[in-house]
Amino acid sequence: MIPMHTAQSQVPFVDLAAQYAAIAEEIDAAVSKTIREADFILGRAVRLFEEEFARFCEAQFATGVDSGTSALELALRAYDIGPGDEVITAPNSFIASALAISHAGATPVFADIDADSYTIDVAALEMAITPRTKAIIPVHLYGQPADMDPIMELAERHQLVVIEDACQAHGARYKGRRVGSLAHAAAFSFYPGKNLGAYGDGGAMVTNDPAIAKKVEMLRNYGQQEKYHHMFRGYNRRLDTLQAAVLRVKLRYLEKWNAARRQHAGRYRFLFEKSRIVTPNEALYAESVWHLYVVRVSHRDTFKDYLSSRGIHCGIHYPVPVHLQPAYHDLGHKRGDFPVTEDYAQRIISLPMYAELTPELIARVAEAAVEFVDGTRSSVVGTMAPEPPRATTTLP
Ligand SMILES: *Cc1c(COP(=O)(O)O)cnc(C)c1O
Repeated sequence: MIPMHTAQSQVPFVDLAAQYAAIAEEIDAAVSKTIREADFILGRAVRLFEEEFARFCEAQFATGVDSGTSALELALRAYDIGPGDEVITAPNSFIASALAISHAGATPVFADIDADSYTIDVAALEMAITPRTKAIIPVHLYGQPADMDPIMELAERHQLVVIEDACQAHGARYKGRRVGSLAHAAAFSFYPGKNLGAYGDGGAMVTNDPAIAKKVEMLRNYGQQEKYHHMFRGYNRRLDTLQAAVLRVKLRYLEKWNAARRQHAGRYRFLFEKSRIVTPNEALYAESVWHLYVVRVSHRDTFKDYLSSRGIHCGIHYPVPVHLQPAYHDLGHKRGDFPVTEDYAQRIISLPMYAELTPELIARVAEAAVEFVDGTRSSVVGTMAPEPPRATTTLP
């Protein structure tokens, strides 16, 4: 139905090959060093990365684990949160925020999000507190921190533990302070597509509490204090040395890559200024690291297909809210329970966003997007541009 623009190159959603091309020599050297030294399990690079990443987060300790999900779960376990306890989080996150709570044996309780920031609404959060509530997991979604000051205030009043889900926000700042140092503990993911990504799975738990750091260190390594002496029933959830070696190289570029993402976000905002595309707001307190650039449009699915026909690849984060997932059927939620999250799930779309994007590629994305939404012809995209489908219903 929509003509293909076969002549044009693709705009991928992320481009990890382009990132590797820029740092290949350093990566290859770090990986082969680890292999030559046969230093695979809790090796030197793990220890060094932990120190460097803690410093990056302006926190005292970082403990490398095998995923962001593990970082969340082990942090909960380190605080003895488990069966009978409730932990409040947002329903518009990747499912891992809730799964970690479930895997620790506790019950996830959801609070809807603030319509401007996409992060947990503090008033809704307060309403969700019960005598069983033990912890809060605010999610720094799309790279933007949740509003942490009122969350910490609330937590103090109710004696709750707060664990930041910083899996999308490596390097973001809240009132000038780095995420990872804003609460009792924080979880980071190094899934390849994250702002800081490994070449496989990885994660880190970050804290200023030495006892919690020690506990997670043991939890990830069979509950071992010293070899073959097991203080409790721990797990095998370690960060691979090979991944740590990759992460040490990439960490040196993270500030630069995040700065590039910020520039790209500014460019998108400028190009969409006069369109009916709803662009994301950076909260006054925030310095976002733009893990994702999420806009809202009507006719989202047709919009996505249209961009795809023009070689532009987008994502949806996330199409089904966690409380409506079959995996959480037993919590008994129904449509209507979290209206902001549910409404946005129908309208959000994540545009290409990665450090290696160029102004030309961003212009191509923006032109195609505006063309679809506002029905205006673009001058740069070319004379072969198809007649854009017009939006017919009321727009936001
Ligand atoms: C990626 C992600 C996780 C999980 O991280 P994994 O490393 O994939 O286990 C958790 N929460 C959020 C918000 C994420 O984006």
